[in-house]
This record gives sequence, C-alpha cells and structure tokens, in this order.
Amino acid sequence: MSDVIVVGGGVIGLSTAWELASHGAAVTVIDQSTIGREASWAGAGMLPPGKLSGETSGEGRLRALSCELWPEWTQSLCSTTGIDNGYHNCGAIEVSFDRSLNSEAGIWTATGNSVEFLTSERLRHVEPEISATIKEAYRLDEFCQVRNPRHLKALATACINAGVEFREGMPVYGWRMSGDRVTHVRTTGDDFSAGQFVICSGAWSRQLSIAAGGEVNVEPMRGQIVLLRCPSLPFRHVIQDGPRYLVPRADGRILIGSTEERAGFVKQNTVDGVQSLLQFAVRLVPALASAEIERTWSGLRPYSGREEPFITRLPGRENLFVAAGHFRSGLQMSPGTAVLVRQMLQGHEPSIPMPPYSLVGSESEQAELTDNKLLTAQRQQQQ
Ligand SMILES: Cc1cc2nc3c(=O)[nH]c(=O)nc-3n(C[C@H](O)[C@H](O)[C@H](O)COP(=O)(O)OP(=O)(O)OC[C@H]3O[C@@H](n4cnc5c(N)ncnc54)[C@H](O)[C@@H]3O)c2cc1C
Repeated sequence: MSDVIVVGGGVIGLSTAWELASHGAAVTVIDQSTIGREASWAGAGMLPPGKLSGETSGEGRLRALSCELWPEWTQSLCSTTGIDNGYHNCGAIEVSFDRSLNSEAGIWTATGNSVEFLTSERLRHVEPEISATIKEAYRLDEFCQVRNPRHLKALATACINAGVEFREGMPVYGWRMSGDRVTHVRTTGDDFSAGQFVICSGAWSRQLSIAAGGEVNVEPMRGQIVLLRCPSLPFRHVIQDGPRYLVPRADGRILIGSTEERAGFVKQNTVDGVQSLLQFAVRLVPALASAEIERTWSGLRPYSGREEPFITRLPGRENLFVAAGHFRSGLQMSPGTAVLVRQMLQGHEPSIPMPPYSLVGSESEQAELTDNKLLTAQRQQQQ
C-alpha cells in the first residue's frame, strides 16, 4: 500500500510526488492519460521573479518561495537524472502600445524586484527589432524561463529513481470512504488504497472534489500557442504585452502566447486564435513576418477565479488534500506548491502562511468572512 496517492501527473502532481518521495514517502501517481501531457506540457515556461522579503500576498509569496527553489531543484534534477531542463535567466521586457506601465512597474519595485524603465532609445539599444511604435517599456532582469517538456521529463525520471510508481491511462472517478477517511481511489481499473490522497488533477479537479463531497472551484481556460522557427533569434528577452507574450528559445524557436478562452474541455486551435496571435507577434516584432510556422497547440489552464491556487485539506475529509487551480502560474509555482503539500501531509510548519490557499480564498475574502461571522455572533448575542 502507498503512503500517498497523487491523482494527476502534471507539473503539480509530479513535483509533489518527487518532493514526498525524497522525504521518505511511498508514492503512487495515477493519471487518466499519459503523465505530463496536459497544461504543464502546453505552457510557455515563463518564470517571473519574486522576493519573499517583499511579498505580502498569497500569490506573491508562493511565486517568491518557488523562485528561491527553482535553481536548487534544477540542479538536483540534473544531477539525479542527467536531464537539463533548460532553466535560465533570460530577463523580460513588458511593453505597451497605449497603456501606462507606471503602476504595474511600481508594484514590482515595491515588492523588492529589480525594474529598469526603458526610454525609446534604450529599448532600441537593448532589443533593436521591437516595434518603434511602443509607447512604454520596462525590464525585469531576474525573469527566468524553463523548457517545461524537459522539466516534466526530468521530474518523471527523478520520481522513478525515487521509487514513485506510475499508473497511466487510468481515470480516477471516485473515492471509497470509511467515516471521514478516504480508504481507496476508484479507477476504471482497480481501486487503490493509501494513507493519504492528493488531488493534483489540474482543470479536472472540480469533478474529483465533488465526488468526495467537497467543491474545489476550478474550470478549464483554454490557451493557444503558435510556435515559430527563425534562422536566428531577433530578440533574447521574453517580451510581454499584458496577457500576450513572445518567448525566445535558445534553439531559434519562438513561442507566441496566448489566448484565454472558456471552451470547456475542448483542446484545439482556432482560426481566430492563431490569427490574433500572429498579428500580435508581427505588430510587436515586424521581422517575425518572415518566420516559419512550425506548429500550434493548446492547453487547458486550471482557472480558480482568484490569484491563488487551492492547496489545502478538503473539509470533512481527514486524509484528502488538493493542490490545483494554478491558472497561468502552475509551472512557476510548482516547487513551492510541492513543498507546501509535503509540509501539510507530514504535519510540519509551512514555509509561508497557508490561509490564502484554503478553499475560502484570499486573505481579504477571509477577513470579510471573519467579519460576517463576528456580525452573526454579535446579532445572535443581541437576540
Ligand atoms: C498556453 C499555456 C501557457 C502557459 N504558460 C505558462 C507559463 O509560462 N508559466 C507558468 O507558470 N504557467 C503557464 N501555464 C499554466 C500552467 O501550464 C498550468 O498552471 C499548470 O500546468 C497546471 O499544472 P497541473 O499539474 O495542475 O495540471 P495539468 O498539467 O493539466 O495536469 C493534470 C493531470 O491530471 C490528470 N487527470 C485529470 N483528471 C484525472 C482523473 N480523473 N484521473 C486521473 N488523472 C487525471 C491529467 O491527465 C493531467 O495529466 C500555461 C498554460 C497554458 C495552457
């Protein structure tokens, strides 16, 4: 019998399994299809910076905790598997054709990150191929990227080396319970028992939580990507304009991302989606008009409707936990999430405060809830 069953082998499930197995747990990962082929494979691998000393929000702290862990995880994965995940510091430039970037840049500065505002001349000097019609731009020096498919391969190999068992092609559809405890996961094959269970099923997590009598509000939000190939890279920073971006890879490829679409569980590329991404790319870097289109794909982000993912125990379920809903940030937040899940399951003090990741929600939502509870208690006393 496993100590822990992790349901879902994306970046969150694999990171969690590796972290737990590295700390002595016997872990099984069950996936409905092939390990590491959903959103975690589809993502662009951008890793924005963060400083634990400066962050006060739940989202910021988890990003900052993960930023601290990325270099050591990369090194440790490489030394145990021989796989280089391509993690490196490339820097990013946020640009705008029309909006002011002052307040956004101010937040990065206030949370302790290095920000350089770029005048038109400086932008031309740093990235000469970016459109001359850009109104404002700033640079984040500490922005990194990872080749996520390679990272997933490294994680899966490290898991196997650490004794993690994989069961693929096995959809989990429910739970066997004894009182408040889950005893088994129910799959379309056998049922499997364990001491503890973690739902890391990305965009599919809601259904599994409902089957356990809870509700983790996660829905799929499709994102499309176009992959270009260039004989030589016209720029070296990640370039972002709000939710759209260009990510240069060392091998001459460039990712154009991404759309945000409520399309259920349908993964496909659409004419609209691809056309708007290509227009965005050529407007930003006109030289890309002559690049080759290598392929397109899409993935289903787990959207939680708030800044923070859910990393918590399911109410009324002693040994059932969830780590899901990372939306656009699951790759960047994966090492921190795995460490928090391990600390939660093993009863250790968490590295950062956990309330923002509860089902109730962010600190402000909780404060509101506490206020409401206080009001209700006061009214009851008055009656
Ligand atoms: C286009 C795009 C670009 C992105 N870019 C970035 C980026 O640059 N940086 C970043 O940090 N994040 C990015 N993201 C977001 C990131 O990819 C996700 O937040 C992250 O991959 C979520 O990981 P996950 O493990 O929770 O989900 P997934 O990778 O989707 O994994 C969930 C797994 O659970 C399995 N599963 C589901 N249901 C069941 C079941 N019932 N039984 C068994 N198994 C089940 C699935 O088969 C799957 O393998 C991007 C996402 C997309 C789509």
